[in-house]
Amino acid sequence: MVVIVDTVTNPLRPRHPEKVNRPDSASPPKPDWIRVRAPNTRGYADTRNIVKSNGLHTVCEEAGCPNIGECWDKKHATFMIMGDTCTRACAFCNVKTGLPNALDAAEPQHVAEATAKLGLAHVVITSVDRDDLSDGGAEHFAQTIRAIRAACPSTTIEILTPDFLRKEGALEVVVAAKPDVFNHNLETVPSRYLTVRPGARYFHSIRLLQRVKELDPTIFTKSGIMVGLGEERHEVQQVMDDLRSADVDFLTIGQYLQPTRKHHAVMRYVPPDEFASYEKVAYTKGFLMVSASPLTRSSHHAGEDFARLKAARAATAR
Ligand code: SF4
Repeated sequence: MVVIVDTVTNPLRPRHPEKVNRPDSASPPKPDWIRVRAPNTRGYADTRNIVKSNGLHTVCEEAGCPNIGECWDKKHATFMIMGDTCTRACAFCNVKTGLPNALDAAEPQHVAEATAKLGLAHVVITSVDRDDLSDGGAEHFAQTIRAIRAACPSTTIEILTPDFLRKEGALEVVVAAKPDVFNHNLETVPSRYLTVRPGARYFHSIRLLQRVKELDPTIFTKSGIMVGLGEERHEVQQVMDDLRSADVDFLTIGQYLQPTRKHHAVMRYVPPDEFASYEKVAYTKGFLMVSASPLTRSSHHAGEDFARLKAARAATAR
């Protein structure tokens, strides 16, 4: 059972001020195949303590991720840097919306310390959108990568970034810091952008991913979409083609789940065999790795997937 506190309607501090006056949208009841473990293990509590004692935010909590019980039990947390408040207001996302605070200069070091304490072989770092910053937070991303490299030289680093829309030179700063995996999620098919991801531009995101490979072909690139937002199958296949034309290595596809009644409704629960079919099609289109299942999230099993990704690249190079 996913536990998500609906603070949207809290009049004292609305989490999503732009959504408060929207009509409720009802989603169909969850099917049997959306089943998750309750977050109450010792490993979960340990991870929570380390996250809190370092004053960090995680997307696991902020986005109400259904996998938190499983991931945190294994000490896999995805850090969300640059605060807990996002300057965009996507219709699917549970991260708080508003004007964020100034950056915390000590945060890169705190993330590095938490990575060391958790003993992570592979760490995933994401962030809120920071349209208010002149570089979109690129330098902060780079500093965080460098701090982790210094504290944990054997840890591989995956970043999941915003789109740096209208932030010239920002992408170059992040790529120069050499993450092992550069992930930027498309989230949905282009026809749903205006409703689901209104502040973003589909082809800008595709171009961003392509540019990463042009700047540094050694970096693995990754992207993901959610299904169940009203997309058609042929549109998902077109997204696969667009990502392959940008030379993206790894595709993730997961089921959209509605965080609160004020968010976009789930239009459909895609059954597991349809995910399996997407996975098959995606492999035929040339992705090195594909993860498609109802509970797939871009950072779910990211460490194991990175090992498989490296092996797949090595196999194609032979
Ligand atoms: S799938 Fe990712 S966001 Fe969800 S709990 Fe696991 S690490 Fe956190």
